[in-house]
Amino acid sequence: METPKKIDDNISMKTRIIALVDCDSFFVSCEQADNPKLKNTPTCVISGVNGCVVSRSKEAKQTGVRMGMPMFMARKEFPDVNYIVADHDKYHSYSKKVMNCLKDYSPDIEIVSVDEAYIDLTGTQKLFKKNYIEIVKDIRQTILEKTDIPVSIGLSHSKILAKLASDKAKKTGGIFKIGKNDIESVLEKTEIEEICGIGRANALTLKRNGIMLASEFVKKGDIWLKSQLGVNGVELKHELLGECVSKVDGRYEPPKSIQSTSVIGEGTFSDNIDIIKMEISKHIHSACARLRYHRGKCKSVGLLLRRKDFVTLCEKKILLKPTDFELTVQRAINEILPKIYQEKVLYRSTGVFLENLSFEGEQLSLFTTEEDEKERNLSKCIENIEKRFGKNSIRTGF
Ligand SMILES: [Mg+2]
Repeated sequence: METPKKIDDNISMKTRIIALVDCDSFFVSCEQADNPKLKNTPTCVISGVNGCVVSRSKEAKQTGVRMGMPMFMARKEFPDVNYIVADHDKYHSYSKKVMNCLKDYSPDIEIVSVDEAYIDLTGTQKLFKKNYIEIVKDIRQTILEKTDIPVSIGLSHSKILAKLASDKAKKTGGIFKIGKNDIESVLEKTEIEEICGIGRANALTLKRNGIMLASEFVKKGDIWLKSQLGVNGVELKHELLGECVSKVDGRYEPPKSIQSTSVIGEGTFSDNIDIIKMEISKHIHSACARLRYHRGKCKSVGLLLRRKDFVTLCEKKILLKPTDFELTVQRAINEILPKIYQEKVLYRSTGVFLENLSFEGEQLSLFTTEEDEKERNLSKCIENIEKRFGKNSIRTGF
């Protein structure tokens, strides 16, 4: 019999109240905030003039535009949709405004990405003389009023549960709470793949052991979980049970590498080079967007193709100089792809990674003043560069 003793001393039983604030269709929402005429219309943000779809309004989703669809295809199939080239400086500035709203509610804020942040609300009930649901309703309303960006908020006792709650909030009107008494029933309805932080390989290991649901996962002993998934697996279990293992941490640490990977389609396999290229373009855009968000540059890029039989093909290329420019990354990837792609082989997933990162000059700061904003003298926005290249008929993409 396994003894259910704690492996990590940091695992604390103290109950915390954590919210995950996640902006809805963030890039499109920024464009709609900027130009209200776009509200309630089918609108997509695209990665570049000849790029792919990276964000869709609710109406665009309803028309059938798919994420990652190349521009030429989307325009032909859905000519009535508005297509706007991504403007990451705009999104960065909206992101700061949204995050700034949060600091009025708690000093403990952890920004996870351009459109997502955890906020530790423990104890704020007394301060605001409201219950936690009313506080998050307030946060949502304040963000909408001050920035015009709609957000969904998940509320629970750990980061993992807050994340799960925010996914559910997207489908249930913007706010979802997983209280102590709801945990069991939520875990019974949650497949292990839905848990952020499980990862594809771990999900497979668990499934091979007959564990399909989060409720089955949390019943496993710590020692078994540690042997299968390492200490992270144990922490994940305790987080799912409502213990705050991973605290909301406001200290900023730049990433060591940036990756964007996903299975092809909805887990279907493909040997179609056009589909694979479309997937890769989507990853290049999202990885570069994250790199620029951190004000970083990469000196090496990599491409990963995973075959249906789980054989992973991977190749890297060192760049001449550090870059955050999508076209440069795309060119490097264009050189790598023919080296590892094999015809008539089915692939299950693709991925792009950026490494050897440097963060010269300005670091991402959590809250900047109006003054900082003025002082910032960025090099040209990517869409300007792309417009210029567009005029000169240089094509992005493959
Ligand atoms: Mg979001």
